[in-house]
Amino acid sequence: MSRAWNFSAGPAALPEAVLQRAQRELLDWGGARASVMEVSHRGAAFMDMAARAEADLRGLLGVPSGYKVLFLQGGATQHFAQVPMNLAADGQRADYIINGHWGEKAASEGAFYAATHVAASSKADGYTSIPERATWDLDPRAAYVHITTNETIHGIEWRDIPEVGDVPLVADMSSDILSHPLDVSKFGLIYAGAQKNIGPSGLVVMIVREDLLQRRPRPLPRIFRYAEQAAAHSMLNTPNTWGWYLAGLTFQWLREQGGLVEMERRNRAKAEWLYAAVDGSGGYYRNRVQVAARSRMNVIFNLHDTALEPVFVAAADQAGFMALKGHRALGGIRVSLYNAVTLEAVQALCGFMAEFQRCHG
Ligand SMILES: *Cc1c(COP(=O)(O)O)cnc(C)c1O
Repeated sequence: MSRAWNFSAGPAALPEAVLQRAQRELLDWGGARASVMEVSHRGAAFMDMAARAEADLRGLLGVPSGYKVLFLQGGATQHFAQVPMNLAADGQRADYIINGHWGEKAASEGAFYAATHVAASSKADGYTSIPERATWDLDPRAAYVHITTNETIHGIEWRDIPEVGDVPLVADMSSDILSHPLDVSKFGLIYAGAQKNIGPSGLVVMIVREDLLQRRPRPLPRIFRYAEQAAAHSMLNTPNTWGWYLAGLTFQWLREQGGLVEMERRNRAKAEWLYAAVDGSGGYYRNRVQVAARSRMNVIFNLHDTALEPVFVAAADQAGFMALKGHRALGGIRVSLYNAVTLEAVQALCGFMAEFQRCHG
């Protein structure tokens, strides 16, 4: 059996080596004579695996001391609400910089617990750019400033992390975490749903500065308090053991591949190939995102004749290129190029695109 070229936006392709290892270990995990899903999360074997996963993630991202790493549940969407629950007092302002769908969602869910304020937005240009730093309307008393470092649907990615003074910077990095090296010290809190670049859905990785865990803006059930999760090493209750294990395998794989410097090199090469195919098509394929803000993780484009888009998606599917249909909110084509997607897959797709243009020119 040959596997499809998988360009899914999420849940997305995982490294084949990770899947093979999980398959090998499925019936007998490390001599346990049971799978990792069938043993106690309080047992020594699982605790060792969990600690190693955290250490590998810390190593990959160079997480400084003074930050906790949490392995949580609920998806990124739950944390749209849970972040303000933990960080903002009732009615306290929280500033959001919005350059796409997920930032909008974060601000609207956050509004149940904070006075979420759109400090800047590129909605007016159809989310094809990142708002100029000079235009941001920030409040120095805000609970935090929220950004979405990669807008998965609109295909926009931040290259530079902005300075926002003493207000903690909070980032939803669901779709670009671990795709390039990162200066974690610029952030107060980073969160990411795992299903784009880490592992299976149902797991959220969070990196949070310890002083933020001291905030206690309202009484909360313990299960919603990040400080409680940190104190319990993310095991206040039964964690997503399978997700944690697969994330750990992915972190090991990333280390073996040469870490995030190498990932950035590969991701840049893949994106350059694909954007070159789009830009070199004489307008047959079109991407409207400001060049400096184009995502390396999610490349979106339209065909010159949008009526051809379903034909393109169907023909691509036939040829083994999976999941190219754009998000239902936006239409068009979307090609997701997370760490597990190979340059070979991208080159094959570029060949397909040229051939499609020749046949349907
Ligand atoms: C996929 C995605 C989400 C939603 O994640 P869930 O885990 O489904 O809640 C949020 N933000 C970004 C940037 C995403 O890519």
